[in-house]
Amino acid sequence: MSIATTNPATGQVLTSYDPMSDAQLDAAIERADLAFHDLRRTTVAQRGRWLTAAADLLDAERDDTARLMTTEMGKTYAAAQAEVTKCASACRFYAAHAERMLADEPADARAVKAARAFVRYQPIGPVLAVMPWNFPLWQVMRFAAPALMAGNTGLLKHASNVPQTALYLEDLFRRAGFGEGCFTTLLVGSDAVDRILSDPRVRAATLTGSEGAGRSIAQIAGRELKKTVLELGGSDPFVVMPSADLDRAAEVATTARCQNNGQSCIAAKRFVVHTDVFDAFAQRFAANMAALRVGDPMDPATDVGPLASERGRDEIDAQVRDAVEQGATVLCGGEKPTGPGWFYPPTVVTDLRPEMRMWSEEVFGPVAGLFRVSSYAEAVEVANGTAFGLGANAWTTDPQEQERFATDLDAGNVFVNGMTTSFPELPFGGVKNSGYGRELSALGMREFCNTKTVWVGRGEATAGAGAHAE
Ligand code: NAP
Repeated sequence: MSIATTNPATGQVLTSYDPMSDAQLDAAIERADLAFHDLRRTTVAQRGRWLTAAADLLDAERDDTARLMTTEMGKTYAAAQAEVTKCASACRFYAAHAERMLADEPADARAVKAARAFVRYQPIGPVLAVMPWNFPLWQVMRFAAPALMAGNTGLLKHASNVPQTALYLEDLFRRAGFGEGCFTTLLVGSDAVDRILSDPRVRAATLTGSEGAGRSIAQIAGRELKKTVLELGGSDPFVVMPSADLDRAAEVATTARCQNNGQSCIAAKRFVVHTDVFDAFAQRFAANMAALRVGDPMDPATDVGPLASERGRDEIDAQVRDAVEQGATVLCGGEKPTGPGWFYPPTVVTDLRPEMRMWSEEVFGPVAGLFRVSSYAEAVEVANGTAFGLGANAWTTDPQEQERFATDLDAGNVFVNGMTTSFPELPFGGVKNSGYGRELSALGMREFCNTKTVWVGRGEATAGAGAHAE
């Protein structure tokens, strides 16, 4: 894949870049390693000042940055502006809370026969971040803000279709005060990931992306014995039970499916609806979906812009056609438009069966599958019935059902009566083929820390260790 900005609303290639040479890559890794030795010695307070400066720059440059993202991957301008603001808030959150998150944690010294014992969180070194294009600023920021605060340096291999946003990020952290090499954008294709992760100076990797990329990076990391965090795909269920507020559920379902032009890992993708309210919900939902305006992502009246790539649009079109050819029913949308740009209409498909691709695959565009169920147990079975486990929504006003869904839904995030989203305050991640490890909150920061046990004895013959070999 070439490294280039191609406007998805027009299909025009705007800028392209030559990938870095091996020598340039090596020099960038060397700078990240050298920078780590300096950054780890700075105080958390100092790093917090730099991260706050990054937040101020993000706020000041919001509109230009949003325009850049819209041009590179097609999200609506309003959504892009909101993404920049969210990144600034996350920087401020980590600047404010890192001191507490990284503070030594005392242990029960008497129980371990020590004078003092505690856990200390320390940075580990340069971390490779392989990132996707769908939230080109936010996906990177939720790695970078906690990693830099902890004292790690970052090496970004961004998706090949968002090189300008990738370069903006490097420039942002440099202007905010982080030294040369603290955060570096590597303009390389995915074929360079093996070489980078095999380098002994690179200590760990985080990937947000597809299952295939996850398997590949996990294999390399396994061979090299390096820590990874994997945030992969999802086919999130959105369960609607009879007690739900149907108007509200149908309204949120529409946003949850079509946010970011349908290209979010935590977009609701499978709508699992109790038969008592199925027809009423389906009618409301399909009407809402059909009413969305598809068009130029820079136009404030647009709800849904183009898909980010022609390949992405072809993929969802093939998934819908596969279902229709095998007997599924299209309630709205379902036709690939002709003309420039990679647009696809909001689509609702029902009468799905297990042999259809839409039953089990992730659909990465504004296409919803509707599933009819006749009990709580069946709702949970269908909701959990894919290889993924990223987010899950349940709509019910019954408090007992709310509790049961929270326990029974096999996902990293369960949102009841609301749509799945991410907050810096809460951990984010998946189970099953949606990956492992957590981003955000203190957990996300500590994924790339050495959780060091420190035991201090009194220096007397009777004290402490020795009773066991390990
Ligand atoms: P993708 O192809 O996996 O690309 C993501 C990143 O991985 C890009 O930087 C890509 O580089 C790189 N990559 C691709 N194949 C690779 C390989 N074999 N080895 C190493 N790196 C590789 O993902 P996508 O299809 O563009 O993005 C959408 C996917 O990401 C969806 O499945 C979505 O659900 C998932 N996602 C997950 C989350 C989450 O938090 N769990 C968030 C957003 C998206 P190139 O661009 O150079 O190919």
